[in-house]
Amino acid sequence: MTDENEGRGRGVRGVRGAESQGEDAGQGQGQGEGAGAGGGDRGAGVAAGGAGVAAAWDELVATARRTVTDGLVVGTSGNVSVRVGDVILVTPTGVPYDRLTPSDAVGVGLDGRQVLGSLRPTSELPMHLALHRETDARAVVHTHAAHATAVSALVAELPLIHYMAGALGGPVRVAPYATYGTPELAANVLRALDGRTACLLQNHGTLAHGASLDQTYDRTAQLEWMCRVWLLSSSVPGLPPHLLSPAQLREAGDRLAGYGQRGDGPRGQGAAGDGLLG
Ligand SMILES: [Zn+2]
Repeated sequence: MTDENEGRGRGVRGVRGAESQGEDAGQGQGQGEGAGAGGGDRGAGVAAGGAGVAAAWDELVATARRTVTDGLVVGTSGNVSVRVGDVILVTPTGVPYDRLTPSDAVGVGLDGRQVLGSLRPTSELPMHLALHRETDARAVVHTHAAHATAVSALVAELPLIHYMAGALGGPVRVAPYATYGTPELAANVLRALDGRTACLLQNHGTLAHGASLDQTYDRTAQLEWMCRVWLLSSSVPGLPPHLLSPAQLREAGDRLAGYGQRGDGPRGQGAAGDGLLG
């Protein structure tokens, strides 16, 4: 299953295969709600968007590929966005990340109208737009990471198994289930993210946001790791795991917030996540 992209032949655009799982498998028409319907000349990929857009698109594609190579995403079942000024660059629906080129760049405005590219944006566009509109997010990463998705089906909040929840703003909530790609799911996610930089989506996956793609990727990976740890520690018969108290988590969160080299550009913005190393 992890090799599903390799069997489809190379260089074929729009292999929106039925074998690809998840909402971005590109089932038929009508996806990318609010994305504006085709037509019009939106320029050829990032060339129309300038150097900043080109660099951001490269970073977005690299991040999307990393979610696959690190096992957080199977096929095209996740999606990534990054904001450059008033343009939200997003992964297109149904195109394997290893085939994305600079000319495939997809950009939308905060109102969801497509301003760059001709491929359809991710079907989770409403969720990404909600985050970019309602929070200070510069980047958003959504995955169906296995352990996180498993936990999302078990609890309403990730038990306090590790202090790194403090780096995500506190106990990680699970957003109630709603159909993928809907405004209802976007609203549920926004509520679950109140005061947090990551949450789980019930029976679905993860959502994290941050000041950069690197930071947001790191938060996603930390969340998946914590879910894995909780599943491991809670799977020993007769030995329920010790959990941290809310006060212990707050104390760790305060230390993490003050850790590292803050206010020093993108590297400094990732400092909270680096607290794990210290
Ligand atoms: Zn999804």
